[in-house]
Amino acid sequence: MSRVIYFDNAATTPITKDVVDAMLPYFNEYFGNPSSIYSHGRETRAAIETARKTIAKLLNAHTSEIIFTSGGTEANNMAIKGAVQYLGVQTIISSKIEHHCVLHTLEYLEKYHQVKIEYVALDEKGIVDLAHLETLLQQGSEKKLVSLMHANNEIGNLLPINDVAILCEKYNAYLHSDTVQTFGHISIDTQAVAVDFLSGSAHKFHGPKGVGFLYMRKKNKVQSFIHGGGQERGFRAGTENVYGIVGMAKAAEIAYQNLDKDAAYILSIKQYFIQQLQESFDDIQICGNMENSLYTVLNISFPNKENTMMLLFNLDIKGVCASGGSACSSGAATGSHVIQAILPNVDRVNVRFSFSKLNTTEEVDVVIQSLKAILV
Ligand code: PLP
Repeated sequence: MSRVIYFDNAATTPITKDVVDAMLPYFNEYFGNPSSIYSHGRETRAAIETARKTIAKLLNAHTSEIIFTSGGTEANNMAIKGAVQYLGVQTIISSKIEHHCVLHTLEYLEKYHQVKIEYVALDEKGIVDLAHLETLLQQGSEKKLVSLMHANNEIGNLLPINDVAILCEKYNAYLHSDTVQTFGHISIDTQAVAVDFLSGSAHKFHGPKGVGFLYMRKKNKVQSFIHGGGQERGFRAGTENVYGIVGMAKAAEIAYQNLDKDAAYILSIKQYFIQQLQESFDDIQICGNMENSLYTVLNISFPNKENTMMLLFNLDIKGVCASGGSACSSGAATGSHVIQAILPNVDRVNVRFSFSKLNTTEEVDVVIQSLKAILV
């Protein structure tokens, strides 16, 4: 098979060998059920609690504030549904460019639980209008939750999370931020930013799929929305994904050990790609807020012509993995809800390229050549 160039790291990242090695003993040697009281169970329980300490320390949080989940989707569902069910939230303020696991949760709460959903205004770069957010927070006296993602998975926009947290504190609203694209890539200090709920997903930072976590601030905890056994101290029933949790902690540890170096390297790949694109094509545009953007994500729009309509398909034929919208619903031929929300009248073709520490400038050169062959 010819070599594939993987420029879709916002969809998922390859799991690294160190992470696999850390997980392997938990498939066979240490297979005990963590709820069993004999030594075989205690070993896996200890592994889970060590992993919890690792994640908590990276967030400058308390171990009791970390709940392991099946991934970012579950963590976001738990925070948002829990805030309604257990904290008395009646209005949720969010944006139209959240991930579907947030948007569809909001639609569900609106339809079946009479929760009022407000969407904050965005400009054509997808920047959140903080003045409008403040206006929405000022209205009514009911308990509110603000749910705004830290980095957008399609266009890379970074939220000024501290400014949002300050506004939420001012108006006594809870704050949930979907940090699935930023945990493992940006340092988040829960003592410095007054955020109540954060989510993480291991497969976005070279960990395994199907495991993540929810951070819940101690004073605002929500109860389980999965009922059963007493795992996760009663906050999330179900036998734990021990090897996944161990792998996630290892991946997080590696990510934060090398954060500055890897971030600078990945940013240099993104900048080189932008420079090469701009030199090669005069009709491309960068979508999103380049002034404050996650270094892993780049969203490029091409004019809607015959040769761009099948762009992703043709890139795939050339061994280049990129994505048209959110890959979580990918394969989907439908347009991106993010682009639709911010540029509803613009008829262009958007491709998201997203990078990791494993990419190289040589790969950028090959992708540019492939794009030239398809487009020029
Ligand atoms: N939130 C964002 C911003 C994402 O990008 C994704 C996955 O693409 C998710 C949530 C869902 O995470 P998971 O795949 O762990 O369920």
